Amino acid sequence: MSSNSPNLKDYSLASLRDRFSEEGIPAYRANQVMAWLYQRDVDDLDLMTDLSVELRAALAERYETRAVEVAQADQSSDGTRKLALTTHEGHRIEAVIIPEARRNTLCISTQVGCPLACDFCATGTMGLTRNLTTAEIVDQVCRAKGCLDEEDGVISNVVFMGMGEPLLNLAAVKEAIAIMTDPRGMALAPRRITVSTAGVVPRIPELIEIGPINLAVSLHATTNEVRDVLVPINRKFPLEVLLETLRKDPNVNKKRPVFFEYTLLEGMNDSLEDADRLPDLVRGIPCKINLIPANPHPGSRYRAPEQDVMDRFAARVHEHGMRVTLRRSRGADIAAACGQLANA
Ligand code: SF4
Repeated sequence: MSSNSPNLKDYSLASLRDRFSEEGIPAYRANQVMAWLYQRDVDDLDLMTDLSVELRAALAERYETRAVEVAQADQSSDGTRKLALTTHEGHRIEAVIIPEARRNTLCISTQVGCPLACDFCATGTMGLTRNLTTAEIVDQVCRAKGCLDEEDGVISNVVFMGMGEPLLNLAAVKEAIAIMTDPRGMALAPRRITVSTAGVVPRIPELIEIGPINLAVSLHATTNEVRDVLVPINRKFPLEVLLETLRKDPNVNKKRPVFFEYTLLEGMNDSLEDADRLPDLVRGIPCKINLIPANPHPGSRYRAPEQDVMDRFAARVHEHGMRVTLRRSRGADIAAACGQLANA
């Protein structure tokens, strides 16, 4: 078997049942394999004792079960852990475990690098090497689970906000979400999954119709002029196109608000005029606004505004009746914070 072999983690339960049927393996065997992989966290086929010895040997000959390995794990002073993971051919990607009381949010990657070149983002300077496979996406969760002790608690939330633009790898992302939310897979409630996009507008409806997952949109600016610089895909899908799509989508509603991510960059998008424009811009879209202090990375010309400027900005947006949160940055000392993931 080579690393080009198919991986059992590439398949949702429905796909694995189909695949097994085509191979003459009873479809119910897929349920057993899923339970081992994701509920018992066992990926050694030899240990899957409710499968016959012959079936275990046949599967081991044809399939991989691991897709990424932990090359390095760093822990921040605030408890955030950054995992540097390698694919079979040696590409490095990153996942970040963000602990909260007895539970953990895991931020995962969807591409090696990213083609969208957002101006404040370390990943954006790398360009795109390739899309990750479903197995490589799902296995980030499996490896992260393996890094947690019992007292750390479980992975309760998954956010697709690491390296890459998830909507440019939508087929693999959808299959990964199917595995994560399947009660016989990782059994995460869909509302515990958040997928972020920089604004690949034509693919947003297809993503949010798959189920009640959360959509996060990287807004970062209140004018096309500034957003064209910060998030260059805005030149293709400008603010009015992005926001009108969200306004019209029936899957965006009070029960499923959009999370607008707005990274505060000193002198770029942090003025009170911006704070006044922002609520007008998103009016009519059920939403919450997350303000994120910029995280520095080598070569970046941006930095976060002073705390009082960020506080004033948040208060002003709130005065307009918006639901707004000023986030604190997590893991900045190990380059694990938003916009810092670049194999540093
Ligand atoms: S912010 Fe996201 S979409 Fe933009 S370059 Fe970075 S990883 Fe890609």
